[in-house]
Amino acid sequence: MSSQITSSDERRVLSSVRTDLFLGGDWKPASSGGSLPVEDPATGEVIAQVADATPEDGMSALAIAAARQADWAASPARERGEILRRAFELIMARVDDLALLMTLEMGKPLAESRGEVSYAAEFLRWFSEEAVRIEGRFGNSPAGDSRLLVLKQPVGPCLFITPWNFPLAMGTRKIGPAIAAGCTMIVKPAKQTPLSMLALAQILVEAGLPEGVLSVLTTEHAGALTGPLLKDSRLRKLSFTGSTEVGRALVRDSADQLLRLSMELGGNAPFLVFADADVDKALDGAMLAKMRNMGEACTAANRFHVHESVAEEFARGMADRMGALTVGRGTEDGVDVGPMIDTAAISKIDELVSDAVDHGAKPVTGGSPGDGPGYFYRPTVLAGVEPGSRVLREEIFGPVAPITTFSDDDEGIAAANDTEFGLVAYAYTESWARGMKVIDALQSGMVGLNRGIVSNPAAPFGGIKQSGFGREGGPEGIQEYLDVKYVSAPR
Ligand code: NAP
Repeated sequence: MSSQITSSDERRVLSSVRTDLFLGGDWKPASSGGSLPVEDPATGEVIAQVADATPEDGMSALAIAAARQADWAASPARERGEILRRAFELIMARVDDLALLMTLEMGKPLAESRGEVSYAAEFLRWFSEEAVRIEGRFGNSPAGDSRLLVLKQPVGPCLFITPWNFPLAMGTRKIGPAIAAGCTMIVKPAKQTPLSMLALAQILVEAGLPEGVLSVLTTEHAGALTGPLLKDSRLRKLSFTGSTEVGRALVRDSADQLLRLSMELGGNAPFLVFADADVDKALDGAMLAKMRNMGEACTAANRFHVHESVAEEFARGMADRMGALTVGRGTEDGVDVGPMIDTAAISKIDELVSDAVDHGAKPVTGGSPGDGPGYFYRPTVLAGVEPGSRVLREEIFGPVAPITTFSDDDEGIAAANDTEFGLVAYAYTESWARGMKVIDALQSGMVGLNRGIVSNPAAPFGGIKQSGFGREGGPEGIQEYLDVKYVSAPR
């Protein structure tokens, strides 16, 4: 596809997606016949209608997942791995179309969508390689009277609930290891961005995924659909990516069945710049950590803690870089920053900025919503942000960089850890010893040391504290889909 996107490219890509429910290998309308609209956040226009699944559709999907589980678990690991590998190749052959679809429903610039499509595909490649390496162990008891055999078995039918900010990758991080491990699954994508997941289902069918292993249910009534599933003993696992608030409610709702859980929740990542940092490198990293996905990432640097000796230089550099970004519809050439997802996002960002300014912060660039009709916010840098400001405590999920200062390492680290969240933290220092001290002290599941991006399919992604538990990616990722069975046998 040329870099110039036309409306006929948009129509072709949108019309290639099936908009019914993907239920047990068939495409079916919702049992109620209902549908829900999907908007382009850059224009506010409705670009598609997808089926609105009912709780009955959810129970049908669970019945199918439960019925298919035993056969799927018994299928050769090599076959499961090859399905994943073929799906990886199909996605990579269609990066441009999938990226355009993603930009249309979610808003991020095409280059970022292409990045996410490749990143999403890499999870399928990674887990295609892991499928044949599900290992147990063998040992002898210390007393010498028995053999100890440790096996891994698939957990069983899973429910996946995913957010709108990474419409494809948040799915493949779960679907990849579930297929590799031999679990059946039901996926409920976010209502704002269901199209990418529906396109993925089509690709998985093409790649040879057997009927009934995967269902994709789009709905406007998430809780009504998933509530009964969580209460049903046939469901064995829930993997959720989304806000901490909804995650907490799902943990409570799944307690009766003691479901296996993976919770990939919100973040409030600190970005530390120490006195000895290379400020140019720190600025490059800061732009990546802040502006990947327009700030709508759980890993987004939410607050910049900068040593007072370099704070002014850092704030100036951030203002220059943020101020030079072009805001617009993600399909257009030269656009760096697309729209936010909806009006609620704009209101929340604007509230946080106003609160910081009321507390004494100074906007050095931006500081207000952009021009409509879509949901735009200007890239913003706030200098001199006071400790009590909400913008330091709450997830911004937008293109706003609040800068605050510290005067010694311990103060900087304490400020970084002063949050209920613990997903990722970033630190810039040229000193190895300081770097090691800092990575030990930071309370987060992941650390970017002199790097503004940590995501990698070969690494265990996940948080601690109120950012949740469980890991996606790496050799750790598949363990979330495996139960351990210990067998005691005589010698
Ligand atoms: P959200 O409101 O929690 O929604 C996430 C998903 O949960 C959506 O599919 C949503 O459905 C569904 N949902 C909402 N209420 C539900 C309920 N009562 N029962 C069952 N499902 C329900 O989060 P979001 O605004 O879409 O996503 C942004 C959040 O995700 C941020 O906090 C971000 O940090 C976090 N996130 C975390 C990671 C990570 O790996 N740690 C990665 C990406 C994003 P609807 O679409 O119908 O609302």
